[in-house]
Parts: sequence; C-alpha cells; structure tokens
Amino acid sequence: MEFIKEAFEANWISPAGPHLAGFEGDIGSYLGGISVAALSSGTAAIHLALIMLGVGPGDEVICSTFTFSGTCNPIVYQKAVPVFVDSEPDTWNMDPNTLRIAILNRMSKGKKPKAIVVVHLYGMPAKMDEIISVANEFEIPVIEDAAEALGSSYKGKKCGTFGAIGVLSFNGNKIITTSGGGALTSWDRGKVEKAKFLATQARDPAPHYQHSEIGYNYRLSNISAGIGRGQMAVLDDRVRQRRQVYTFYENHLKSDFILFQPEIEGSFSNRWLTCLYFPLGKPELGEQIRICLEKDNIESRPLWKPMHLQPVFESFPVFETGVSQRLFENGICLPSGSNLSDLDLHRVVQIVKEIVD
Ligand SMILES: *Cc1c(COP(=O)(O)O)cnc(C)c1O
Repeated sequence: MEFIKEAFEANWISPAGPHLAGFEGDIGSYLGGISVAALSSGTAAIHLALIMLGVGPGDEVICSTFTFSGTCNPIVYQKAVPVFVDSEPDTWNMDPNTLRIAILNRMSKGKKPKAIVVVHLYGMPAKMDEIISVANEFEIPVIEDAAEALGSSYKGKKCGTFGAIGVLSFNGNKIITTSGGGALTSWDRGKVEKAKFLATQARDPAPHYQHSEIGYNYRLSNISAGIGRGQMAVLDDRVRQRRQVYTFYENHLKSDFILFQPEIEGSFSNRWLTCLYFPLGKPELGEQIRICLEKDNIESRPLWKPMHLQPVFESFPVFETGVSQRLFENGICLPSGSNLSDLDLHRVVQIVKEIVD
C-alpha cells in the first residue's frame, strides 16, 4: 500500500515511473544480478523473447507439452510452429532425451528449431544442465518459462537465470502477484533493453514519434510495479508457506496409492502447487476427489492437460513419452494457497482419505 501511495502522490499513474526500475532492480538482485524488464504479463515476455530470437512465420519452436497454454500461444502469434516435447517421470518436465530425438528428427527434415521453450512445471525445476547441454550441442537458444517457478532453484542457481532469456509471471494465481504482470530476464543487458523498447511501441530516439520496427504495448504500469516491490519483500515467506503446505499433504497422504511430484537431488521447488497422482492408474479417483472437495466448497483442479491433446494444438508435431498424458489422467492439484490454515488442510486431507481408503 505504501508503494502504491507513493506512486499516486508522485502522480506516476502510467507504464513509466520510478517503481518500474525499482521492481526490476529487486527481481534482478533476487536472481543474482540478472537484467530484468517488467512487462504486462508472462505471455508478453514469451512473445518478446521469440521475436528477439528471430522466430517468424514457418519457423519451428520446441516447447514443453505439459504446461499452460500461455507458454505456446505466442509461438502461434508469430505464425511459427510449436513442436511439442513430452515429460520425463522424475520431474514431470521436458525429457532431455526426447528433446534430442525431436531436434534430430526436425533437422533431418531440414527444419532446425529456432528456439526451445522449457517450463518448470508447478515450480519444479526441469533438468536444466541436461537440457542446456542438448541445446548447446545444436546451438539452439533456450527460453526458460519460469512463470510458475520464481523462488525455485536448480543446483544452487535460481530458476529464471538459465536460459538465453527467462520469463516470469505475476498473474493473480502465481506465487507472488502484481494483479497481472510479468518479466523478461537475461544476462545479456542488450536483450533486456531491446525488450523494453519493443514493449513501449518501439519508439526510435527522435523528438517526434518515429518507428522503424513494429512495437507492442507490453510495459508494466508503475502502480503494478509498486505492488510488485511489496511482494518481492515477502517472496521467501511465500515459498516457505507453500513448502509447508506441501509437507503437510505429503505427511498425511503419501502411500502406495498416492505419490507427489518428485523433487530430485539438487532441486528446490517453490511448491507453487501441491500435485499428486495415483500410480496404480485409477483415473476416476482424481475426479471423485475433485467433486467431493467441490461439494464442501473447496476448489481443486486436474493437472494441466498437455498441449498436444488440446484441440487447438493437436495438429502440430509431438514427441511423446506418454508421461504427461498419464499424469493428466491420474493426477490432481490440491488447494495450495499460502494462507491455508491447519483446519483448511485437515479438511482437504480428510476428504481425500475418505475417497482413497
Ligand atoms: C501463468 C503462466 C504463463 C503466462 O503468464 P501470464 O502472466 O498469465 O501471461 C506462462 N507459462 C506458464 C507455465 C504459466 O503458468
């Protein structure tokens, strides 16, 4: 509230103003000194990342299939072709071996992918060392979709700092929020400056409005950036709370019939959402649980429906392992908000137990 008040008092009610640089600085130092452009959404950040990597009509872009549509919609905005790569069971994220197979297959057809968009699903880091090593082998730049993974890290390095370009989201449902917003990160300061330029309608330096490129209205507002500054101060608390929620569920529910999204050695997840699945393949359980929770006014949700199974994307190439479809059919996201009370958590656990036992 203080940051917002400051913005009003200084009359910076616009997509410019001192909180923008402040918020960018806060994120940058949290992520170890990386450069940051604050934008209107995570989707906008992915769109600008693709544009800056030269993705255009007919180009192919490799993309995690187990994700939210915001990851791959911008590929289609650019009239490019998403090539979906399935998950591995250890982290539920892009399988490095399948990624390699996909790249070789597309290259054998004369279509070398222009970029790889890799997602850290539900905050769980993908196997970034293996993915970056495959990407480097073929010299393909990585866009790291860390929209769900602010506060997560992999082998001691924060998510959002691995790719040629990183993407964060501050949408209302994410671990911290600016009501709506996002950011683009890069160790290449030039890319971040270019993103700010494109995000403010690509205005050339001239006293009149002069344009030699197509621009976008993708900058974050100074008010939202003020909210973001307040949120950055509580980010580590939020991560701690989400991880406590996860631990509670795991302690009360883990069994031969219920497993959770694994956190492999070297990974630290913000546990944005607690996700479980039924390894014995009982697809009806997830839906029964969802309906029983709903009867008690408790919201839950199936895991993301893989993009290659979505009507709008099903005609695009896909390299499957079967993992994402199996998880989608046998899993569920439990209520995971940072403000859940012990009583709330006990209510959820009791209902899940009644169905599964
Ligand atoms: C939320 C999300 C996005 C999009 O971010 P917005 O700020 O909502 O545009 C992209 N990718 C993933 C994985 C997300 O969860």
